[in-house]
Parts: sequence; C-alpha cells; structure tokens
Amino acid sequence: MKAVVKYGTRDGEVELRDVPAPEIGPTDVLLETTAAGVCGSDVEQWRHFVTYHVNTPVVMGHEFCGIIREVGSGVKGFQPGDRVASETAAYICGQCPYCLTGEYNLCPTRLGFGYGLNGAFTRFVRVPVRCLHRLPANVSFEHAALTEPACVTYNALVVKSRIRPGEPVVVIGPGPIGLFAVQMAKVQGAGQVFLVGTNADRRRFEVGKQIGADVLLNVQETDAAKVILEATDGYGAPLVVDAAGPTPAVKLAMDVVARNGQITKIAWGPKPLELSLDPIVAKAASLQGSYSHNWRTWEAVLKMMSAGSLNLDAMITHRFTIDHWLEAYHLVEEREAVKVILTPAD
Ligand SMILES: [Zn+2]
Ligand SMILES: [Zn+2]
Repeated sequence: MKAVVKYGTRDGEVELRDVPAPEIGPTDVLLETTAAGVCGSDVEQWRHFVTYHVNTPVVMGHEFCGIIREVGSGVKGFQPGDRVASETAAYICGQCPYCLTGEYNLCPTRLGFGYGLNGAFTRFVRVPVRCLHRLPANVSFEHAALTEPACVTYNALVVKSRIRPGEPVVVIGPGPIGLFAVQMAKVQGAGQVFLVGTNADRRRFEVGKQIGADVLLNVQETDAAKVILEATDGYGAPLVVDAAGPTPAVKLAMDVVARNGQITKIAWGPKPLELSLDPIVAKAASLQGSYSHNWRTWEAVLKMMSAGSLNLDAMITHRFTIDHWLEAYHLVEEREAVKVILTPAD
C-alpha cells in the first residue's frame, strides 16, 4: 500500500513509498483510513523543525478516522464495519501515575501515531482498541477527521482554562487550532473573541470571520495590543490562548492578559523565547501549558459534532489523495489551507 513516509531527520526527507499492510495484535484493530487531516506538526516534521524525537522511518498522519476491517482475538465491543475515529496515543505504558489516572496523554513514554508509530497517511493502520471512538451516525468521515484538533482545543479551553460567559478571550494564531479555540470559546459563552494573526493569515482570517471571531487583528496592519486594551477598558482579557508559538506571540499574550488572568499555551515554539517573564509576575497571571487530550474529551467533542455545535465545513479548505501529499504540505506551510483532508491513494 502507498504511504507518506518520513524516512530521515533532514529537511524534506519524506516520500511516497510502498509499504506492507500492518499486522495486528490481540488488542488491536486493523483500520481502513477514510479521512486524515494534515496538521501543522506534519509540516514541521517534513521540515524537521521539531524539538521532539521522531522515529524514522514512520508513516505520517495522526488526525484520522476509518472503518474497522479486522479485530484482534481479544477485542470486545468493536466489529468489522464499525465507523470509528482514533485517538493519537498509539503507545502508552499503562503503568505510570498518568496512565493509571486517565491522563495518559501525559505518559512520559507516550508515542503518537505519525511520528512515534506508523500513522494514517496510507490505507491501513494498526490501532489499539483503547484508542477507538464510535462515530455518531450523523458525523461524516471528513468531519470526524477533525476530532483530534478539536480535542486539542477542548482540552486547552474547557479543561485547562476558565472562561466566564460574557468575558473577552484573545486567541493568537489563526491556524486550525486557533480557529477551533475561537469556536470553543464561543460555545462556552465568551464575550468578544479577538483573533490575532499576520499578513500571511488572510485566508485563515476569512474562516475566522465565518466561525464567529468578533475582531480580527493583523499585527502588520494594527497595533493589536492597543486595540484589545482599548476594547477592554485598559484591563486586558482574562484568558489569552497562544496558538502561534514564537516570541512575539508570547510577548503579545503577556501585554494583553488581564491581572490575575491566564495564558494558555498550546503552540510549540520553534526556538527558545527571547523575552522576560516578569509581566506574569507583575500581573499575577498564570501561564498554563496544554497538551493533547484523553478519552473523556474525545467523547464530548464527538457529541458536540453530532449536535452541530462546531462549524466543521468552514475548517476544511482542501482535499487530496495521499499521492498529492507534497502539494498539501505546501498549502499548509504557506497558510493557504486551513485543514487539508487526505484519503488513501490505492
Ligand atoms: Zn495534529
Ligand atoms: Zn504511562
């Protein structure tokens, strides 16, 4: 079967290869991929612009859903033909305090699909049964492929942050995660939601408008901090979400967070930050990291999707088969795309 394989740790060492279909163990299923989303992190791994270890060679792709084709001898509750989405924690130890308390996304030995173990930019994937979630009948495969990034923002904005209805929220970075963050803020009753980006984000700002961002701020055209502070009577926003990562984003977050407020950081930084954290101290603000998601979040997000609480159509801008992966990665890198959906090629 054809697969998008990252085979080395230099810039661009990704290619379409023929690989054998995986074998499954007793507690796995063989999943036929029906839709898989391209993540910003896929592009970072293609460029090898990453601060974590990537096992190579590896089949890329971690945002996916499909149809079960085979089940292992010990699998209960799932059958061939079932429509499912898969979580991303392809390997967890099952024995550390995080695994034992359901926070296995924080397991120190966790390996994710697509960089740690073989992922979904191919026809068949081996998936442990504990990763599976049944799709509601009215959730399409394309939409279900968005469950993962939606769960990242549910974890960040619902589980790790406090939003008081009516109060403003600032989201920095209008990529898929930032756009879902806007949606999660709105669903929870946030007041004005500010979405901050740059000249390169024009296409993404259009989607931002469609999914309900109240104020779009291009930092190359506007003094975003000034606008946000003026709109909040000089006090700033109780919650700022960093879905961008680099130094200027974190600096802006500290400039516009309210005293006693919270900055929730989802985005990785490509380089160490060059700034002082003193504003966090002066404002008695908190800086909260948020990483991945777990079972409860997946079930909740699928229920939200089924209920129509999220605008998913606006998020999908392009569709390709995996043999066009390079075109897809370029579109994401150039920020022309929001979400690109890939499907198997043979
Ligand atoms: Zn992702
Ligand atoms: Zn563990």
